[in-house]
Amino acid sequence: MNKNSSNTMALAPNTSNKRQTVCVFGTGDFGRALGHKMIQSGYHVVFGSRSAQTSSLIPKDAEVLSHAEAAQKAAIIIIAIQRQHYNFLTPLAEILQGKVLVDVSNNLKINQYPESNAEYLAQLVPGAKVVKAFNTVSAWALQSGTLDASRQVFVCGDDMEAKQMVMDIARALGLTPLDRGSLLAAQEIENYPLQLFPMWKFPILLSLGLTTFFFFYCLIREVIYAYVYENKDFSFFIAISIPNRICPVLALILLALVYLPGVLAAIIQLYRGTKYRRFPDWLDKWMLCRKQLGLVALAFASLHVLYTLVIPIRSFVRWRISSRTIALALNNKTEPLNTTNAWLSDSYLALGILGFFLFVLLGITSLPSVSNNVNWREFRFVQSKLGYLTLILCTAHTLVYGGNRFLSPSSYRWYLPNAYMLALVVPCIVLVVKFVLVFPCLDKPLTQIRQGWERKPQYSE
Ligand code: NAP
Repeated sequence: MNKNSSNTMALAPNTSNKRQTVCVFGTGDFGRALGHKMIQSGYHVVFGSRSAQTSSLIPKDAEVLSHAEAAQKAAIIIIAIQRQHYNFLTPLAEILQGKVLVDVSNNLKINQYPESNAEYLAQLVPGAKVVKAFNTVSAWALQSGTLDASRQVFVCGDDMEAKQMVMDIARALGLTPLDRGSLLAAQEIENYPLQLFPMWKFPILLSLGLTTFFFFYCLIREVIYAYVYENKDFSFFIAISIPNRICPVLALILLALVYLPGVLAAIIQLYRGTKYRRFPDWLDKWMLCRKQLGLVALAFASLHVLYTLVIPIRSFVRWRISSRTIALALNNKTEPLNTTNAWLSDSYLALGILGFFLFVLLGITSLPSVSNNVNWREFRFVQSKLGYLTLILCTAHTLVYGGNRFLSPSSYRWYLPNAYMLALVVPCIVLVVKFVLVFPCLDKPLTQIRQGWERKPQYSE
């Protein structure tokens, strides 16, 4: 649906764009793809090339001229050439005087050069108005029309009018231009396509490390121990039982790790008596990836729900229930209903269901399309208050799961407690410290500090 609409937009341009001439320097992959899209959108495209000969690859209806001839035909020139070849523009400086030069280039490494490519271009052709744009869109996406992943075009430049002209072209192509300010922002815009999920690195690595740890932990406790002491082969636990232990454990630990940096930040601010000193770098970075940590936690919680749903159809579970029933029948016994156990089991399930429901709600409100529609206070309410409620419910779900087996010596194997007991450490610390922090004797000074009040001004560091 979206795809169609984007293509329809691109193919049905604003008629005011009709026949406006745009020059593209370079007939490489990107120049051709952009030229093709602009012709589709109603622009007249002139290519400036080292070889003024057209080929079957050049879009039909486009002219191919020398750089100097092509530049004279348009007010906007898109430089679809690698930065290392920009010096060919120096002799053209006079012709390029007053023209809008669009720098679309990317580098191979983050901060590869001391100045951005767009600033370098502005230095080479000082009389031109340089605008940085289109570097976040790929030639392939332009050509195939699959612009869903990269519809946003960051635009920056020192000349407002030039920037506006480039943003109009982006809109006519079905893209979404975002004004990022002056040419000083170009370096950041050039670094953007080189980043690979920067905020996801820590959450993913952490969850991989924790998954590996808990996998071997559960393997030792549930499979190897049973094999050594009872000579039983429970290796099939690797398929469902162990993942269904790891998933809730990770969901709970990661959820607690979303709230732990906030608690640490509050302690640091209280200790320093000011909010005007930077947090340590590791804490800053941790706080910046809280949303990603929460989403990974939600993914583990969702897997836990799915694994739990298949428990009744597992062969091992059906065998255990039937063996128990048969044993009771053979011994002519019945088991009276244990109301305490029934309460524990129902409360455990109810807490899990409510916790998961709020977890999903938190995940949904972190989506940009939803968070853009709530104000800051509403967002904070959901992420902070409902977030803590989710953590309380999920921690309670785990505590009640332990029930009367909790801390029982018989549950230890090789002195190793159940994995869920380890999972409770971080959430309990977070909740206890948070509980202490809401006491008025701490909450009041903390609120004052966050409003700008300082106990002892310290500007060093
Ligand atoms: P390309 O296929 O290698 O094409 C570059 C073009 O530059 C060549 O076709 C050539 O055009 C021209 N050229 C090469 N050497 C030159 C020289 N010494 N002097 C003057 N012109 C020269 O590269 P591309 O993939 O189209 O990329 C072009 C620019 O777009 C790069 O800065 C790149 O970072 C940026 N970009 C590319 C993509 C993408 O998906 N490919 C995405 C975003 C941004 P003529 O033979 O016509 O002279």
